[in-house]
Amino acid sequence: MSFSTLGLTPALLEALAAQNYTQPYPIQQEVIPAIINRKDVLGIAPTGSGKTAGYVLPILTILEGRKLTRNRHIQVLILVPTRELAMQVHEVFKLFGIAIPGKIKMLSVFGGVAVNPQMMALQGVSILIATPGRLLDLVESNAVHLSGVEILVLDEADKMLNLGFQEEMNRIFALLPKKRQNLLFSATLSDDVNNINQLLLHEPLVIKIEAETDNIDLIEQLAYFVPEERKGPLLRYLIKKNDLKQVLVFTSSVYSAEKVAEKLRNSGVDAWAMHSKLSQKARTETMDRFKSGKLRVMVATDLISRGIDIKFLPHVINYELPRSPKDYIHRIGRTGRAESPGEAISFVSPEEEHHFRVIQKKMGKWVTMIDSKNIEFRGF
Ligand code: AMP
Repeated sequence: MSFSTLGLTPALLEALAAQNYTQPYPIQQEVIPAIINRKDVLGIAPTGSGKTAGYVLPILTILEGRKLTRNRHIQVLILVPTRELAMQVHEVFKLFGIAIPGKIKMLSVFGGVAVNPQMMALQGVSILIATPGRLLDLVESNAVHLSGVEILVLDEADKMLNLGFQEEMNRIFALLPKKRQNLLFSATLSDDVNNINQLLLHEPLVIKIEAETDNIDLIEQLAYFVPEERKGPLLRYLIKKNDLKQVLVFTSSVYSAEKVAEKLRNSGVDAWAMHSKLSQKARTETMDRFKSGKLRVMVATDLISRGIDIKFLPHVINYELPRSPKDYIHRIGRTGRAESPGEAISFVSPEEEHHFRVIQKKMGKWVTMIDSKNIEFRGF
């Protein structure tokens, strides 16, 4: 199967080849022609499945050659839960958007940064990627109007609902024109997501991709049984002894992320924390350094984890286990992405042992457990 049979504009085919996208992922094969045919889509697909390009490419194809008739009346609205995802989706639009002749203007907006530059930048924008709260602020100040929206995309809808955006989303839906195309993507089909599906979608194409659980077989999983207070030394031991590079460490709180990163730095390992309490600038810088391989260790919390999109991430370490088995799969899923095998290590304290059993049961896979008592890592 090649991209050339999906109905995409020829300008994009060259850009795809230049990006080494040699063939469409399964979700792309299905959704690209459907979106170009202006059908609604319900995609149950996690990050890593290729869903972003799945909607970016056909949207650009639809908008090619279109003129914006009224300033500040966007044509495409993409709602996302976090600024990381907003920036990531924006990048994909930019990556392929430059291939389209006649410039299509696109912008991402999110909270936590000044609103004025966003208001100004909204001039002439066709495609807007936004978090719900900031979008409403901009609508209220007349910086953008939603009455011309032809295509609505909800990306990571489950996450948006989990973060409590339901009310904002309802207010946004009420501002959109009745006749439009709706594309809904979510990692899971919870009852709440299904409610939105029933409310918004009209005879959608439904596609379900279980990329991350499929990927699990690609990931080498290992667990260490270790008392809470020995986790720090064990982490430093594993990183140094095995000379690990590009390690993503997960903790369960901002406090712990900072502490783990600081201790790693004190022991000579370049490590920085990544969480929601940091400024946007610090987050972008850390993420860029990590992605480009300049930063050896990034210590992140779960909230941030969905925005991390790295093609070949070799090591994930769960310093603390996530609360839900789904989050566990999501965390380790990013090592086995795009057919590159990876390694996922979990630290399991006596208090977490029962919970780890639950996770393994849900995942349907048992993980080899090494007792850290048998490893000599004093002094690390
Ligand atoms: P997503 O699920 O949208 O977050 O995409 C996961 C990753 O796969 C991103 O890094 C994309 O750049 C990459 N990707 C998406 N589609 C393709 C494709 N057809 N060929 C190669 N890489 C792809």
